Amino acid sequence: MGLFSTPNDKYCFFCGSTAGKDRKLISGPSGNSFICDKCVAICAGILEQQAADVLPIELDNVPTPKEFKAYLDQYVVGQDDAKKVLSVAVYNHYKRMSSAQALQTEENAVKIEKSNVLLIGPTGSGKTLLAKTLAQKLKVPFAIADATTLTEAGYVGEDVENVLLKLINAADGNIEAAERGIIFIDEIDKIARKSENTSITRDVSGEGVQQALLKIIEGTVASVPPQGGRKHPNQEMLQIDTTNILFILGGAFVGLDKIVEQRVYAHSMGFGSNIGQMDESQKMKLLSQVTPDDLVKFGLIPELIGRMPITCALKELTQDDLVSVLTEPKNAITKQFQASFKIDDVDLSFEDDAIKEIAAEAIRQKTGARGLRTIVEKMLMDIMFEVPDIEGKKSVKITKDVVLQKEQDVMKLINKQSNQIESA
Ligand code: ADP
Repeated sequence: MGLFSTPNDKYCFFCGSTAGKDRKLISGPSGNSFICDKCVAICAGILEQQAADVLPIELDNVPTPKEFKAYLDQYVVGQDDAKKVLSVAVYNHYKRMSSAQALQTEENAVKIEKSNVLLIGPTGSGKTLLAKTLAQKLKVPFAIADATTLTEAGYVGEDVENVLLKLINAADGNIEAAERGIIFIDEIDKIARKSENTSITRDVSGEGVQQALLKIIEGTVASVPPQGGRKHPNQEMLQIDTTNILFILGGAFVGLDKIVEQRVYAHSMGFGSNIGQMDESQKMKLLSQVTPDDLVKFGLIPELIGRMPITCALKELTQDDLVSVLTEPKNAITKQFQASFKIDDVDLSFEDDAIKEIAAEAIRQKTGARGLRTIVEKMLMDIMFEVPDIEGKKSVKITKDVVLQKEQDVMKLINKQSNQIESA
């Protein structure tokens, strides 16, 4: 091999450049092939990046389940069971990954199978938030998908493989890293088949999608179109092995409690309990007794349930919980608005009664914590419209009357507060 730094008729086989003042050519052993120093540097960079991306997982650097939970506690109110289950599931996922590495070198190493998780909880109870918060702490790629957008191949909608593309994108295109990632699929209950008996006509929206999901959950080498969307013939595909990808599925499963109740009280000669009269903890107790059969009755296919060995119920948030959601987490909604108002020199505060009333409104709307932001946003809209034009420091105090829309004179609200400050 030799180094050429003078112009000649030889050129880099990669980029086609000839040697020059700022480009050197390196010849191969035969003296007939060449590469320039710039292409060598680019190739070295690519190799370095790949080596860094697929570094073996060292368990010493992975947070323990308790550390995961402590992190979740900063952002998610309540839902202790789900926090524990997810923390352990994610930690075990790392352990499995490191044992998979050992398998490659040790003949007798035991292969640990994955334990996917099914989260059952009403809308706005924190399923997605848990998954998202976990993702911030994770050292593996993580993707969130919505089951309702999926269809089985051949129908209008997204192919199930697009879920994998999201994970590959989260891994910056590194397939090997994506192959040990985690996927959260929400609204899984919405793809339940409509009746327990398989009908002659095919259930396009439900069972077909479950079958397609099952394939990637149980482990397959899937072909993913790199640009997403539908598959086309002759299109180049990315190949990804899903054997080690951990799946967390979530859904509200409205009506599942009734199915469990019917089974649990089936033998009590009509002295059954009544869901309508149950409090949250009783409903939770019921849901924590969910069996695979109950889920089949709901409309999930047994094979899919079989791949979800861990089931965990989240409780509907009470008014007190919603008050905590509004005020306590690190990025609680009231804190976010206070920070945003501060930029306009506004000292925003909420009376305790106002916070309670916002929580009560979310309960009335049956949207759980999901509706809180909309309620606060709507309530503050007129104030947010007016304050940027008002000079100097201001303060706005949100009272129960403001929440109940009994106090609608926005200017009075802002001025009143600034007057108070002036007179103080
Ligand atoms: P789900 O997926 O259960 O329908 P989400 O996790 O999407 O509900 O919740 C919607 C929003 O409500 C979140 O972005 C978050 O602001 C808030 N939220 C829901 N549950 C909680 C909780 N347990 N603690 C704190 N915030 C929550």
